Amino acid sequence: MDFSLTEEHIMIRDAARDFAQTELLPGVIERDNAQTFPDELVRKMGALGFMGIMVDPKYGGSGMDAISYVLIMEELSKIDASASVMVSVNNSLVCYGLEAFGTEEQKQKYLTKLASGESIGAFCLSEPEAGSDATSQKTTAIDKGDHYIINGTKNWITNGGRSDVYLVIAQTDREKGHKGINAFIVEKGTPGFDIGPKEDKLGIRGSDTHTLQFNDVKVPKENRIGEDGFGFKFAMKTLSGGRIGIAAQALGIASGAYELALKYSKERKAFGTEICNHQAIAFKLADMYTEIEAARMLVMKAAWDKDQGNNYDMSSAMAKLYASKVAMEQTVEAVQIHGGNGFVKEYHVERLMRDAKITQIYEGTSEIQKIVISRGVIKG
Ligand SMILES: Cc1cc2nc3c(=O)[nH]c(=O)nc-3n(C[C@H](O)[C@H](O)[C@H](O)COP(=O)(O)OP(=O)(O)OC[C@H]3O[C@@H](n4cnc5c(N)ncnc54)[C@H](O)[C@@H]3O)c2cc1C
Repeated sequence: MDFSLTEEHIMIRDAARDFAQTELLPGVIERDNAQTFPDELVRKMGALGFMGIMVDPKYGGSGMDAISYVLIMEELSKIDASASVMVSVNNSLVCYGLEAFGTEEQKQKYLTKLASGESIGAFCLSEPEAGSDATSQKTTAIDKGDHYIINGTKNWITNGGRSDVYLVIAQTDREKGHKGINAFIVEKGTPGFDIGPKEDKLGIRGSDTHTLQFNDVKVPKENRIGEDGFGFKFAMKTLSGGRIGIAAQALGIASGAYELALKYSKERKAFGTEICNHQAIAFKLADMYTEIEAARMLVMKAAWDKDQGNNYDMSSAMAKLYASKVAMEQTVEAVQIHGGNGFVKEYHVERLMRDAKITQIYEGTSEIQKIVISRGVIKG
């Protein structure tokens, strides 16, 4: 067993840290206020290889491993979780989904641009009546021979407004239940495909989240991913990897808040000494560091499982469940350590606290992770 990072991993982590400090930190408060994220920054992340981290270089990716992916995700998330969710969705849900299950033609046409950051992707599973219960798909994709006709509504879609490529899950044959679900590649601008207004959110406010409408949207048969009926399995497989990304995002939010709290506690004086010298604050720091390190072990284990070719359904669910809990709890502590300053935007920890919450909700709520884990535990 070896807990050390390779020199290459350290270089990758440092490159992401440097990018986050120099490019993401300036303007992060303003972007959160305005709910924006400039295309220019997305292009820069693409140029650094962050939009297709694990994709084979022959499809325009960086050819890195899952450990590199979580290192990059952690560093970006320490500063700007809105940036890291774009990276996570594009990498884990869209690029991975296409590389693992797409045809060669689909990879050449879509993956190469997505992996290089030339285009952006969205993953469209959730619906107003199908969130945790993703099998209750109301969106339909009717087989018309050489094409499908899609009708329905998807909500909460990350990158919903800015994407070029949308992976859409829809029900083709209701009688077959989840085996009658398919996944399709839908291009922006396809007639009948409309993007609703942007959600006004508690956190990750720079990331754009939209409802999407599909009204008789014609999608060629060659845009279906996998065999007929593979759509639900496709969604579950991609989400399993996605959870490693979101776990790493939660880890980054927690460690970003911890680093700010530690620094502040060494500077701020009360009762004649720096507040870190008060045992109540010192013990908070001890708990924060310990919990974050425990979360890091779970996140790294899940990434390692993926790199080894092991099944990572359980380890990714455990990493996400635990790291998101740590992110929520430790960002609250970071605000507390900052006192009144923790309550204002200038000190960043209030944003990290708001951003932490989503990691317990998307790509499967904490309750859903417990369902996955408990099933695995009971099955043995
Ligand atoms: C900012 C944001 C971005 C998102 N991005 C995307 C995206 O890009 N693509 C996409 O497809 N979706 C996305 N989502 C949707 C997200 O994955 C869902 O919100 C999430 O899966 C929960 O579904 P729901 O909101 O319908 O909640 P519900 O499923 O209605 O759940 C409500 C509550 O009930 C609990 N619950 C439900 N079923 C059970 C059960 N069996 N046992 C115990 N508790 C249960 C849940 O844990 C939760 O606490 C995003 C959501 C948000 C807020």
